[in-house]
Amino acid sequence: MGQCDLGVRGGRIVTPEEIIREDVYVKDGKVIGFGKLDVSPRETVDASGLLVLPGMIDAHVHFMDPGDTRREDFPTGSAAASVAGVTTVIEHSHSSPVYTATELQEKLSYLKNRSVVDFGLGAHFPVGGVDLIPDLVRGGAALIKVFTCTTHGIKAVDPGILYTAMSRFAKLDVPFLVHAEDESLTLLAEKELKSAGREDGMVIPEWRNPLAEQVAVSTAGHLTQASTAKTVIAHCSHSQIVDTVAGFRSGGARIYAEACPQYFFLKEDEIKAMGGFRKFTPPARAKTRGDLDEMWERLRNGCFSYLASDHAPSNRKQKTAGSIWEVPFGLPGIDTTLPVMLDAAARGRLTYPQLVGLYAKMPALIYGLYPKKGALLPGSDADFVLVDSKAMYRLEDNAVISKAGWTPFAGRDLKGKVIATFVRGRRVAENGRCIERAGWGRFVRPKSFKRSD
Ligand SMILES: [Zn+2]
Repeated sequence: MGQCDLGVRGGRIVTPEEIIREDVYVKDGKVIGFGKLDVSPRETVDASGLLVLPGMIDAHVHFMDPGDTRREDFPTGSAAASVAGVTTVIEHSHSSPVYTATELQEKLSYLKNRSVVDFGLGAHFPVGGVDLIPDLVRGGAALIKVFTCTTHGIKAVDPGILYTAMSRFAKLDVPFLVHAEDESLTLLAEKELKSAGREDGMVIPEWRNPLAEQVAVSTAGHLTQASTAKTVIAHCSHSQIVDTVAGFRSGGARIYAEACPQYFFLKEDEIKAMGGFRKFTPPARAKTRGDLDEMWERLRNGCFSYLASDHAPSNRKQKTAGSIWEVPFGLPGIDTTLPVMLDAAARGRLTYPQLVGLYAKMPALIYGLYPKKGALLPGSDADFVLVDSKAMYRLEDNAVISKAGWTPFAGRDLKGKVIATFVRGRRVAENGRCIERAGWGRFVRPKSFKRSD
């Protein structure tokens, strides 16, 4: 009988296809097998009565580090991730954008001892010219972030330049993560709203309006189709957008739709009372319960490709310092994405296997990390989460570990709780607390961007 490091016994494993009662064995940070293996674990974890999920992959987070670390930093953001069952994040920050392979390398050295969970890094569309893209990909960038409208101080990329990059580098297969809002339409709305002297919360949904989003998504879809590049439409805000993306995809384009919880739970008019605490873009669009139901329907039926938080936190002071025009965009989300989605699964809005597909397998596939990440298969990293699917609790601001210190989902009664999180076989969080130091988390380089669909 051989030895192994860890045995997880008595739990039910959730895969994207099914839930199976099976033990898991771990050696040297990797899954070595299931069921009745002839090995004796040095340590045993009793998972009876619990679900065992592969660790979540959050492909869209902003930890602002280096950059605006008053809003967030890597040690804090990654600790929050660990508590929430996220074992790998893919991070990019607008306050210190990475445009070159050298900047990527510098950021990697800086982050050496700053993450609890494993991490990949995204780059921004290079201002120095599209020729910089291959080196960024060789350096390990997991995505190229594109803004189609000037946002967070990052300049818009126009369709001609984007098309040049997409068609020249389609073969590299790196995903272009597109923040899709049309520059001229948002500028037009901004001018009108400002000349009317508007300062109420509703300026946000009128400024960042659905037409601007729709035009930019359609443009990105056509560019993707014509170039054969791989494109992700970030944070699709409402059903029409998702349908547009799904339409291009069924026409053969390699285009994916990112889902974020805020568009499944929050309504447009909340910004009237909540002001800056609901300022994010694209904004919440749902006017009715029916609008939200349409989003859930699309999450269930496969129109959405994967789930991410778009964690972009600011604390209360930052969210209230100035007019609605001045306070920063963005919501905290890394702490709450799995919790609110576990609750949705407990209530039957989607299944646990669908959740694992959307928040673990698919982002790992799209961003080149699968099956090292995003799966519990022999040879995969032993990243997993123990979940008590019956536990009930009320989500409160004081449970938020992010520097934000609040959540738009506070006050909700949730069913299903993360009990413990393991990264490469090591327990990094339990019962709402991070117990591992920053530095355990390693950089993960996309293995290949070969077609995965
Ligand atoms: Zn973002």
